Amino acid sequence: MKTFKAGIAMPLLPRALRALKADAAWRRCSDAPGADRRLRVLVDMDGVIADFEGGFLRKYRARYPREPYVALRERRGFWVSSQYGQLRSDLCEKAISIWQSKNFFLELDPLPGGIEAVKEMDKMENTDVFICTSPIKHYDHCPYEKYAWIEKHLGFDFLERTILTRDKTVVCGDILFDDKPDIIGVEPKPTWEHVLFTACHNKHLPPCPTRRRLLSWADDWRGILASKRR
Ligand SMILES: [Mg+2]
Repeated sequence: MKTFKAGIAMPLLPRALRALKADAAWRRCSDAPGADRRLRVLVDMDGVIADFEGGFLRKYRARYPREPYVALRERRGFWVSSQYGQLRSDLCEKAISIWQSKNFFLELDPLPGGIEAVKEMDKMENTDVFICTSPIKHYDHCPYEKYAWIEKHLGFDFLERTILTRDKTVVCGDILFDDKPDIIGVEPKPTWEHVLFTACHNKHLPPCPTRRRLLSWADDWRGILASKRR
């Protein structure tokens, strides 16, 4: 075994301690059990706390009153534009034009109970809540309006805990509440458990034994958080 003289080992100690601290920080958001462990909750925005589907339909019908539309009870599949494109090919672009418009994201209504739930989570002991949302690539308005919406409904301080990313798999957390059924990215094994938030477009999907659902913010989200602390 290799041994070090004290004079060589001492300068290595701070570096070793830093490495241990970094390792501990990494484990906090991965697989380490323990009573003092903080829980990191990631909450998606569109379809989870912001009513994307309702806001879309209202503005689509206002802009294209003579065009066919998909009622919320008829929505199937995550991508609104795909279903509109199936209805008639040119409606795909018309649908996209709605969420690319100024004020679309800013004027979305909060979904019932979502803001209250996030604020309550934020006050819980040993809990860190982040809004984790994917902006559209047409970036003229969306990123700004997402920040503005969060400030308006959750307060300025929440901007400190806002993550805009197109790839949520690289974000480290324990739980991700998200209405998108398949969340994929460069990380094949994200640290978080994806809890599917029920929305008009995903409620018809067959139950998946390995994935939990949150039916709405009236459902037992506190129980899901508690289960991750055990
Ligand atoms: Mg969403």
